Amino acid sequence: MDLYSPQVIKAIKQKFGFKNSKSLGQNFLTDPDVIKEIVAGAGATETDLVIEIGPGFGVLTDEAAKHAGKVIAIELDRDLIPVLDFTLAAHRNVEVINEDVLKIDLNELIEKTLSEEESKGKQLTGAKIIGNLPYYITTPILMKLLESDIKAECIVVMMQKEVAERILAEPGGKEYGALSVAVQYRTTPETVVDVPKESFFPAPKVDSQVLKLTMRTEPAVKPKDEDLFFRMVKAGFSQRRKTILNSLSTSGFPKEEIAACLDAVGIDNKRRAETLSLQDFCSIADYFSRKLG
Ligand code: SAM
Repeated sequence: MDLYSPQVIKAIKQKFGFKNSKSLGQNFLTDPDVIKEIVAGAGATETDLVIEIGPGFGVLTDEAAKHAGKVIAIELDRDLIPVLDFTLAAHRNVEVINEDVLKIDLNELIEKTLSEEESKGKQLTGAKIIGNLPYYITTPILMKLLESDIKAECIVVMMQKEVAERILAEPGGKEYGALSVAVQYRTTPETVVDVPKESFFPAPKVDSQVLKLTMRTEPAVKPKDEDLFFRMVKAGFSQRRKTILNSLSTSGFPKEEIAACLDAVGIDNKRRAETLSLQDFCSIADYFSRKLG
């Protein structure tokens, strides 16, 4: 059964009386090459646990199940559960969980699954995350994975092209912002494939891109106080058009202290946050953590 074919999607919808929910970001993939590239991009093998976010009708789940030791697919829409039971019936290594990915403890799920599989005699060496993300919550999902320091080797996910560009952006451009810093802090992002609107049914309004985010063993920079580092990043980008001196004034430190800090770490106080590297933000945060500490 070619789950990616619009005819098959229509037939399944009819069989189960399923209606697409726009509000859940249900744009199903119809390009078999893209489906293969996502699973190949994650490099899923027999010894991997693959966690899929938002399986929909199961196109990616089906492909992942052919390569991975075990696949857990997390789907919020209850109406899709009987559909997935039907489309994935041939696979013994797939489990579907009817949950909101934003509410589930993914590290606990990974740990529990690896130990359960081990007790059944199946050695899985680690986890990989895949998905064609529901676009209305792309950033919350990514932030959840990053903030929980997800115990996975990589995250290979489809997102709006515009979000992918922000993630990949280097300092100096208008796409560079708090999301670029947050993702680049914990992962090394790279493009897997560009995906046009026509590769989905129904077609979304925007083009898409698949990114592979490989988790770093250590963060890209090592601030003394991680919370303070992210507070400075947030404050810096809160008013992008302002100088770093003015935008950091919202961080809770007096302006003269910020001016002294920028001077001490060698950053011109007329620069804007979008020109600052992760190391620059780290130097600023470390200056204040020395003061506080
Ligand atoms: N993987 C399928 C594909 O590529 O054809 C479907 C992708 S579709 C873009 C996003 C999927 O995420 C939908 O099935 C939707 O119901 C599901 N979803 C939306 N919000 C979710 C949430 N909070 N937690 C888990 N799944 C969610």
